[in-house]
Amino acid sequence: MELPENYYENEEFRSFIWQLVNDNILSGIALDIANVFVNQGAKAFSPSQMRIFREDIVELYTTKECARCAQPIPWEEMFEALDNGGICGRCWFQYQEYWRNP
Ligand SMILES: [Zn+2]
Repeated sequence: MELPENYYENEEFRSFIWQLVNDNILSGIALDIANVFVNQGAKAFSPSQMRIFREDIVELYTTKECARCAQPIPWEEMFEALDNGGICGRCWFQYQEYWRNP
């Protein structure tokens, strides 16, 4: 996936990582590295920590695009996308509306 440059400085991205930590999604070294990121930011990473951060956290838990409308999923909807089958906030809303008022 193409990440924008300095994506890790994005506030919404940071809160996405914080949610992964807070919801006990991560474990082991991935959790340790996510905690470093939450507390000190990506600038505290060694090159190998940065690689683990990217490969074992960002790429693993990020949904590239909405499974329904194929639009990119914004960081603020990324955590929910882990749980709703990989769809964006707009599609998730429509889906819930459908089941409320079929
Ligand atoms: Zn969508």
